[in-house]
Amino acid sequence: MFCKNCGQEIDDKAVVCPHCGVSTQPEAPAAVKTNTLAIVGFVLSFFVAIAGLVCSILARKQCRERGEGGAGLALAGIIISIAEMAIALLYFIIIVIVMIGAAAAM
Ligand SMILES: [Zn+2]
Repeated sequence: MFCKNCGQEIDDKAVVCPHCGVSTQPEAPAAVKTNTLAIVGFVLSFFVAIAGLVCSILARKQCRERGEGGAGLALAGIIISIAEMAIALLYFIIIVIVMIGAAAAM
């Protein structure tokens, strides 16, 4: 094969060009940047559900617009936030029912 940098003929098994030292390996595709907001939203979803939900929704929008990674993480943040809010609502409803029941018993 020939070096893609200097054009000299080099051994097919050579990892680097002996003439110019440039790697013969195909360049690794640039790693897709993970959206920062997606990470923030995911972490927040465990502590502050509403903040996590807002960040995750914005992160998904940014991932689409900028082609950044982290859309899956943002989706996880949205699901976790909604699940937490649903559980909190369920507890609230149970407490209200128990209180009404207790009031009615008196
Ligand atoms: Zn070379």
